[in-house]
Amino acid sequence: MMLSVNPTWQYQFGGDRLWVRPRGDGATVAAVRPADPSQTDWVETFEAFDGSGSVGVTEIVGTPALHPGDTLMELRDLFDVVEPAAYARAQRAFQLLHWRRTHRFCGACGMQLVRKTTGECAMCCPACRLDWFPRLNPVVITRITRGDRILLARRARGVLPFYSVIAGFVEAGETLEHAVAREIREEVGLEVRDIRYFGSQPWPFPNNLMIGFTAEHASGEIRVDVEEIGEAAWFTRDDLPPIPRPISISRWLIDDYLRA
Ligand SMILES: [Zn+2]
Repeated sequence: MMLSVNPTWQYQFGGDRLWVRPRGDGATVAAVRPADPSQTDWVETFEAFDGSGSVGVTEIVGTPALHPGDTLMELRDLFDVVEPAAYARAQRAFQLLHWRRTHRFCGACGMQLVRKTTGECAMCCPACRLDWFPRLNPVVITRITRGDRILLARRARGVLPFYSVIAGFVEAGETLEHAVAREIREEVGLEVRDIRYFGSQPWPFPNNLMIGFTAEHASGEIRVDVEEIGEAAWFTRDDLPPIPRPISISRWLIDDYLRA
């Protein structure tokens, strides 16, 4: 299929393969190109471990020369310009590439890992036989409301130019609900009730699984953890600050509030 986006961008799916490249400066770039095993600048190539052979993941060294039909773009920017199935393959490929590049040696004995050949998506240690699976970091992300108002916060660090809902990593030994309550308590000093599952989203930057919840304010007034949160406040539908792009579950949680 060919999808024209604007006069200078074209995304071509040839050979049903989708390639992901890291850029030399460390930024992440997805490349969509026809499969061509004769390309010599792809130094490492392996199929995605999903058995379908439909996703190629490759690592490139140095600055690649672009070829006809090549397109380089940020993975984030792929989201709203290709069909969902294509994006799903791209983000899976991206996560597998990151995992593969950061799991080259056994964490127990230091031996170089080899790809498991029994069909599982895993790397295996030939010395101590430990299997190493793709790593996912679970993150809870929660929309808190208080009557008809929504709590939105701006991160203390970074350059994200918008306000969003509260998110944090799940810690060892926690349930998801426990993590929701703890993160909210730590970051904005509130207690919540009616914690309900909303939905989830893979977030391959590089390997988070976002698990969305909604909750209602129970008690307390906003008291931000200045290490994490620059500013947090209650907003109404008519008075929203800048919010995230529609590519993330944070925005879906906010859009769901706006629809209610
Ligand atoms: Zn080992």
